[in-house]
Amino acid sequence: MFCWLSRLYLGFSTPTGRIPHLIRSSLSRTLVLTSQRRIPEFSSFVARTNMCGELRSSHIGQEVTLCGWIQYRRQNIFLVLRDFHGLVQVVIPQEESAASVRKILCEAPVESVVQVSGTVISRPPGQENPKMPTGEIEIKVKTAELLNSCKKLPFEIKDFVKKTEALRLQYRYLDLRSFQMQYNLRLRSQMVMKMREYLCNLHGFVDIETPTLFKRTPGGAKEFVIPSREPGKFYCLPQSPQQFKQLLMVGGLDRYFQVARCYRDEGSRPDRQPEFTQIDIEMSFVDQTGIRSLIEGLLQYSWPTDKDPVVVPFPSLTFAEALASYGTDKPDTRFGMKIIDISDLFRNTEVGFLQDALSKPQGAVKAIRVSEGTKYLKRKDIDSIRKFAADHFNQCSALGKLRLECADLLEARGLMLRDPALFSFLWVVDFPLFLPKEENPGELESAHHPFTAPHPSDLQLLYTEPEKVRSQHYDLVLNGSEIGGGSIRIHDAELQRYVLATLLKEDVNLLSHLLQALDFGAPPHGGIALGLDRLICLVTGAPSIRDVIAFPKSFRGHDLMSNAPDSLPPEELKPYHIQVSWPADSEAEKSSLNQPSHPES
Ligand code: ASP
Repeated sequence: MFCWLSRLYLGFSTPTGRIPHLIRSSLSRTLVLTSQRRIPEFSSFVARTNMCGELRSSHIGQEVTLCGWIQYRRQNIFLVLRDFHGLVQVVIPQEESAASVRKILCEAPVESVVQVSGTVISRPPGQENPKMPTGEIEIKVKTAELLNSCKKLPFEIKDFVKKTEALRLQYRYLDLRSFQMQYNLRLRSQMVMKMREYLCNLHGFVDIETPTLFKRTPGGAKEFVIPSREPGKFYCLPQSPQQFKQLLMVGGLDRYFQVARCYRDEGSRPDRQPEFTQIDIEMSFVDQTGIRSLIEGLLQYSWPTDKDPVVVPFPSLTFAEALASYGTDKPDTRFGMKIIDISDLFRNTEVGFLQDALSKPQGAVKAIRVSEGTKYLKRKDIDSIRKFAADHFNQCSALGKLRLECADLLEARGLMLRDPALFSFLWVVDFPLFLPKEENPGELESAHHPFTAPHPSDLQLLYTEPEKVRSQHYDLVLNGSEIGGGSIRIHDAELQRYVLATLLKEDVNLLSHLLQALDFGAPPHGGIALGLDRLICLVTGAPSIRDVIAFPKSFRGHDLMSNAPDSLPPEELKPYHIQVSWPADSEAEKSSLNQPSHPES
């Protein structure tokens, strides 16, 4: 654990100027970064002289002042002090002359904050701790000050101590003290910094903030609604800065980027958050190849140096190929087990249900070869596969799900199918421009969003068979998760109006500002957004995106620490011309709103 924490800081953690060998070699791969990288000074402007975790034998003899939390104490002789950088052992003085220092260090409860000053000394021979990066030294204390005492904690601040997620979210500020959360958030910060460098310094992008108080956008995700003081008028929180970034292109900004907060009121899903962050990008005069190269370079540049380097260009599959071989538009390409069409083997079959399937217009018989299945899978696994297939019968995505289910079962039986250190990127392209609406398959909806341009070769089909039109939409997939998506946009106002009004049956008045802007010399443009939370989650190997967000919402969209969303008294709603219409079980509802938050699991 300490090793990976220090690896994170390797590039800039050594005040002695010693850059470890491991890092020196990986830094040389990122030439431009190396020459620009400066070593941050963690102890400037503050009471400490050094970080606990940075001290080594090279510091022996130095007088240091450290500030940190008491991790634990052993027999009132040793105290282990922690800051974000790591742990260091402090020797509690035993002599009578140091009675006041001893009292402070022996009586302060665990997780109290103390400041100690003393000398870095080597540990007596045989007492070194090779498991601790600071294990060769300890601090001989001269003075100590209790900066703040800690009451009894709801859980121990140790990564190996199991606690429910609800408890972690309720006391998030304590959970953030864990090494794992520190690592995740610091790695996120570093990757974002490198992305900024790459986009703004190396490629001339402009970092522009766009409004979060906006209005409803037709199509796409459900938006959060914000009341205004004007009767019956509401803002909406943007599901993404899509319209603004296109308008910035019309405004001649040419290359836009933003670490953008997006909001979607989509209810609870395990890998989603109602508010999340995108690395949002738009460029003028660009095509798909340009966007793809930009993103490959961006990920390569910002990739953590302790992981295997990103290999570019990323492979690509068309939407149709992805569905045919993997049964999904976000295939996990870390392993094979592709779907194979074996219809030809059964053309003359007498097996009724196969005959039946093959006689249908698009009927096919498909299979997955689980080559290690006989060796690893048990009878009850086969039974569960059978049940899974029956439960998902008639969904076209059934084989794709079955492929993943088989992979899970094989891994549960000990076959390492998906290398946890492997990052398998994939572009999925040539999506259809429209899909049949889920609730009304006779109508069309955008597969990406209504601003996506049709594939140039399919332009004429737009007016005859729009459901057959392919789009200039591309998705980036990593290890089976969609981590980004974008498109080349429609920059012709007439075409955009036709798509919105005629094909999607949307109210064009809602977008009159955008349509008008396209008419005033809008340049051809395109862009993409990377889902930052999901990307960092995959990079860190965190079990959930909540583990890479400082203050996430629970499954049900609640902040378990502050109890948001919360009720407001009627007089505070009055200026917004809003009255709550309580549902039938309103009494129970109202009283539950007045209770302190209930942890959710
Ligand atoms: N705004 C789009 C989204 O959030 C991304 C894009 O097309 O650039 O999915």
